[in-house]
Amino acid sequence: FTDDTTDILEPGEDSKLAEALEEQINKMKTIQETRKSLPVYQYREDLLSSIRQHQVLIVVGETGSGKTTQLPQFLVEDGYTNDGKCVVCTQPRRVAATSVAARVADEMDVFLGKEVGYNIRFDDRTTPDRTILKYMTDGMLLREFLNDPQLSSYSAIMIDEAHERTLSTDILLGLLRGILQERKDLRLIISSATMNATKFSKFFFNCPIFNVPGRRFPVDIHYTLQPEGNYLNAAITTVFQIHTTQRLPGDILVFLTGQEEIESMQTKLVEILSKLDGTKFSDLMVVPIYANLPQEHQAKIFEPTPKNCRKVVLATNIAETSLTINGIKYVIDPGFVKEQSYSGGISKLVTVPCSRASVDQRAGRAGRLGPGKCFRLFTKWSYFNELEKVPKPEILRTKLNQVVLLLLSLGINDLLHFPMLDKPKTTQLSEALDNLYAIGALNSKGTITKVGQVMCDFPCEPEYAKVIYSSVFEENCKGVLSQIVTIISMLQESNSIFIPGLNREEKTKLFGSMMQSSDHMLYLWIYEQWEENGFSQKWCRDFKLQHKTMKRVLSIRQQLWKYCVKLHFISKDNQSSSNALENTSPAMLEAKIIKCFISGFPTNVARLSNQGYTNIKHGLSVTVHPSSVIFTRLKNEGKPMKFILYQSLMLTSKEFIRDCITFDKYEWLTETMPHLYK
Ligand code: ADP
Ligand code: MG
Repeated sequence: FTDDTTDILEPGEDSKLAEALEEQINKMKTIQETRKSLPVYQYREDLLSSIRQHQVLIVVGETGSGKTTQLPQFLVEDGYTNDGKCVVCTQPRRVAATSVAARVADEMDVFLGKEVGYNIRFDDRTTPDRTILKYMTDGMLLREFLNDPQLSSYSAIMIDEAHERTLSTDILLGLLRGILQERKDLRLIISSATMNATKFSKFFFNCPIFNVPGRRFPVDIHYTLQPEGNYLNAAITTVFQIHTTQRLPGDILVFLTGQEEIESMQTKLVEILSKLDGTKFSDLMVVPIYANLPQEHQAKIFEPTPKNCRKVVLATNIAETSLTINGIKYVIDPGFVKEQSYSGGISKLVTVPCSRASVDQRAGRAGRLGPGKCFRLFTKWSYFNELEKVPKPEILRTKLNQVVLLLLSLGINDLLHFPMLDKPKTTQLSEALDNLYAIGALNSKGTITKVGQVMCDFPCEPEYAKVIYSSVFEENCKGVLSQIVTIISMLQESNSIFIPGLNREEKTKLFGSMMQSSDHMLYLWIYEQWEENGFSQKWCRDFKLQHKTMKRVLSIRQQLWKYCVKLHFISKDNQSSSNALENTSPAMLEAKIIKCFISGFPTNVARLSNQGYTNIKHGLSVTVHPSSVIFTRLKNEGKPMKFILYQSLMLTSKEFIRDCITFDKYEWLTETMPHLYK
C-alpha cells in the first residue's frame, strides 16, 4: 500500500532537513544551557531533598533566579508525577501563567496544552490524563476545592508570588494549611520575594525557608530633588536622557500604573522619536506590557534587543516580580501603583504610592545584567517618610462576597476563625454576608441556599450567576437565558470590545439607533449581529470592534452555556442562541433583561434626584462615564430616565458608573427584590 504521509524528499531537501534538525538541536542546547545557568540550578539537589524532608517549604529568591520556570520542572524530574498526579504552580496574574507555561513547554520540548499547560478563567489549555505540569491562576486552583476538597489530583503545589498577597492566594494558603494533615504525601512550596517570608513560615508552623542566593549587581539609586508634578513627562525626559547619554547595550524598564498610561507614553515617545529620525542616536524600540495586552504581542518583551538598538519596556506592576525581562539596565520608577479598593459598595481603582518593598523590588530589576541604575521620580524624603513598608494585602481592601460564599459552601461556617495571614475586618465580612443575603445566596440564618450553591458552581461572580439563574427560574423575568448569557459574556470583556480611541460621534454613526438604548442592549445587538454575519472578522472591522475580543466573548459564552447545560438550565438539544420567547416584544424582552440584572445587582442602582443620579442604597452621587451609551442619551434626550442600573462604580476623577441600563418603574425593584425594597 502507499503511505502518503511519508515525505518524499526532493534532491537537496535532506540537507535542508538536516539543517532544520540542527537548528532545533541548537535551540534545545541553548535552552538547556540557559537552564543550567540559572541560580536555582545549583541548588537543585538541596531543594529537592528539603522538599522530600519537609511537607511545606518557603523558597525565597531574586526575580529571575528560576523559581517559576525551574522548580516545577525539578519536581517533575524527581518523580512527583509518576503516580499519575500533577504538579501545579499558581500565579496571581493570567499573563504570567500563560507566558510561563509557554516557556516551560518549550524548555521541556513538549506542546503547550499537552504535557505542560495552563488553566486560567475561561481559557483551559490542559489535557486530562496527559498534562503533568499546570500553571494556573491562584483563583482557578481555589475553585478546584469545590470539586475536590483534598486536591487529590496533585502531588505537589507551588504557590508562586505569594508575597503579592492576592485574595485568592491568602484563602488558598488557609485552605491548604487545613488539608496538610490528611494529605501527608502532598508537598507545598511557597515561593516569595523576601518581604513576607517569615510571616509565611510562622503561618505554616515555622516551616523552613530556603534561600536561593541570586546574582545581583549593585544598583545606583537616584531621586528627584523636588516632587514631580507630572511623572509621565518626567519619565519621558528621563528615557531620552538615558538614551542620549548612556552607552549600549542597556534596556530601560519604566513602571507605569495601567494600560492608558502606557499607551499615552508610547504615543508620545514614538512622536518624539519620529522627530529625532536621522539623527546620530541609535534606535529606540518601545514595547508595552500589561495584563490585557493580546498574547501575541506579549512575546515581544522576551525577544532579544537587536544590535544598535535600545529597548524601552513600558510595564505595569507585572514586571515587578512576575515576569523577568532580560537585558534591563535602567529602571525608571514614578513610584505609583493602581490599587483596587472597596468599601460600602464602591470600588475604587486608585493610584497610590507604592510601598518601600515594591520600589526596592523594582530597583532590583536593573541589577540582573550588571551594575544598573534606578531613577526614582520622587524624593528621598518621601521614600523614607511617606511610603508604607509593605503593600496592603488584597483581603483587607476588597469585596469578599465570592470567597465568603466559597468558604460557606465548603462547610467553613466559622469565618472569624478560619486561618488567615491577615484577618479581614468583621465589617467586611458582615457586608459580604449582607450582600449574599440580598441576592438570595444565603437565607436569613446565614445558611447557603440552593441558589447560592448554583452561584458557587458558575465560573463567574455570584452576582452574575444570580442574573443567569433568574433568567431561567424567576417568574417575572424568565425566558431570556440566551440573551443574558450573551450580555454577561460581553460584559466580561467590555473594556476592550471597541477599537481603542473610538469616539462617541463615530459610535453614533456606526450603531445608529442602538446608541439610544443602553450598554447592555448594544452589547446584545453587537453579538447577535456578529453571529448573524458568521462571526466574521470583516464585520468586526466594519463596526470598529476588536475581533480578538469578540472571539474571547464567544468562547466565554460557550463555556457559560456549557455550565447552563450541566446544571440543567437548558436541555442539551436546545443549543441555539435564538430567542426562546416567540411572542415577546422588544420592550418586554428588555424589561425582562433589566429585571434579571436587578436580581443580581439590586444595590447597583442610581436614582434621579435634584443632585443628579444618586445610589439608591448609600446615597452617593454618581456620574455616567462618557464611554457609556447612556451618556450619549442623556446629552441628546430631554427627559432622563429615573433609574440607572450599572455594573461598576469606579472612583477615578469622579464616581463614574459604567455599563449602564435604564428603567423608569420603581415597581421593578419592589417586585424583583421585595425583601430589600418593600
Ligand atoms: P523567577 O521565577 O525566579 O523570577 P523565572 O523562572 O521566571 O524566574 O525566570 C528564569 C529565566 O527564564 C529568566 O532569565 C527569564 O528571562 C527566562 N524566561 C522566563 N520566561 C521566559 C520567556 N517566555 N521567554 C524567554 N525567557 C524566559
Ligand atoms: Mg517567578
